[in-house]
Amino acid sequence: MLKLKEKIKNLFTNELPADLIESNQTRQVIEAAFSYVNPVKPKKPSLIHVSNEVAKSLGISLEETKSKEFLNVFTGNTVLENSKPYAMAYAGHQFGNWAGQLGDGRAITLFEAIHNNKCTMFQLKGAGKTPYSRRGDGLAVLRSSIREHLCSEAMYNLGVPTTRSLALFLSGDEVLRDVLYNGNEAYEKGAIVCRTAPSFIRFGNFELFTSREDVKNLQLLTDYTIKHYYPEIQSEGKEKYLEFFEAVADKTREMIVHWQRVGFVHGVMNTDNMSIHGITIDYGPYGWLEDYNPNWTPNTTDNEHKRYRFGNQPQVAQWNLLQLANALFPLIEEVKPLEKILNNFPIKYEADYIQMMHNKLGLKISNEATKNIIYLLTENLELTETDMTIFFRNLSHVSKEDSVENAFEKIKEAFYSIDEVKDATYDTWMYWFTLYIDQLKLENQLDSERKKAMNLVNPKYVLRNYMAQLAIDDADKNDYNLLNELYEILLKPYEEQPQFEKWFAKRPEWAKNKVGCSALSCSS
Ligand code: AMP
Ligand code: MG
Repeated sequence: MLKLKEKIKNLFTNELPADLIESNQTRQVIEAAFSYVNPVKPKKPSLIHVSNEVAKSLGISLEETKSKEFLNVFTGNTVLENSKPYAMAYAGHQFGNWAGQLGDGRAITLFEAIHNNKCTMFQLKGAGKTPYSRRGDGLAVLRSSIREHLCSEAMYNLGVPTTRSLALFLSGDEVLRDVLYNGNEAYEKGAIVCRTAPSFIRFGNFELFTSREDVKNLQLLTDYTIKHYYPEIQSEGKEKYLEFFEAVADKTREMIVHWQRVGFVHGVMNTDNMSIHGITIDYGPYGWLEDYNPNWTPNTTDNEHKRYRFGNQPQVAQWNLLQLANALFPLIEEVKPLEKILNNFPIKYEADYIQMMHNKLGLKISNEATKNIIYLLTENLELTETDMTIFFRNLSHVSKEDSVENAFEKIKEAFYSIDEVKDATYDTWMYWFTLYIDQLKLENQLDSERKKAMNLVNPKYVLRNYMAQLAIDDADKNDYNLLNELYEILLKPYEEQPQFEKWFAKRPEWAKNKVGCSALSCSS
């Protein structure tokens, strides 16, 4: 028996207003934070992979994860007695435009449970239709579920704030998808991910109430969020909501700095995909920066404007916070203090970003000269196709005693075409290494100490886009070995793990323009 059953709490549904209708028919839901809805029963559920680390942290034993009950509960096949599943109501701005009511169209929260004084929401993704499914089927396919399961755990182990993924299942159902939106529909394997977070409340939950001038429920939701997730805020009235907004802005900023540090591109930073906890949420057409190119986005839907490109993530976060500010405005009714927080966002971001880049370079001193080193480096990295992960990891091998030529040899593995570099940018690199090595000589730090520190912020292994795709291709043929292997590697992304050295490599040529490796759609 799952011990978790005795720890179930239903805070969200007990304290916030429910939709009075209990059917999953698509509709506008007013004056409610959620709708009760049961998951659809999967045809033939089976377990593909459990994150034992997540299970343990939630008080679920290894034994329990192997049980029939675990399989049934976390695929939606059985609903625990003291729980009543639901879908959340939210709205959002998508690609810069107001999109109205959205809501959990393919996510159903089962319950909340308390373990070690921590309350966690358990949510199924791909468990059937809800009132918010609009034209969708409420289901998810294997490829996108593998991507969410692996990436959330990879991000967690990299130290990036994120939702977690407890387990990945096949539903046994077939799901129809048009991967490239070009009229070629095909059946794919259906899958379910059980993901967890303190809550799945998004900026969009607040936007929904404000768009309907429902200040009563806006206040209820905001008070609820502060009480449970920002208990350090003790003030009352407007001040309380301002402090809340500032705290969300801070957490969001910290998350974005981490994304830029590891080269993660979310791909769909709509306000409905922005967590109120500042954690990475809704893994869709995300991607990892291989070539350091600030203009890159993995999302084909965004190809034209590239709104959600790597280099634009901080600006988009600020824009999304502006939408949250608008949503909270009825509780504050003063523009100036909100503007102040928003205007501070890029200033604080710049300071954090500069500090983060110093850490990546192993520089302790921070001044105009080191800022220039950072600026010139990012400029150089953009000149030719250069692998971000390999560059920074190998940079830690550079020593104060190295000649600039030697230093270059140590990082040259990061270039996709060494000929191109030798033709065009070799001199610029020589100049940069002169500055960098001179700076290292000025710093009171042993090479070995610097290397150790750099290796704690520059991962050796990330979930490269082609790696996830290879695991997906195998899993489609019922072979989960690679999926298991990638999960294992990504548990310790900062460690050398010589047995996995083959994954410390540039994207292979075949993956450059392959669907799933470099370009992804929202068709998950
Ligand atoms: P996303 O871009 O994945 O964050 O989704 C945006 C909105 O579309 C959310 O309201 C989702 O719940 C909804 N949605 C996405 N895919 C589906 C689907 N297959 N069935 C129903 N709703 C979906
Ligand atoms: Mg979403």
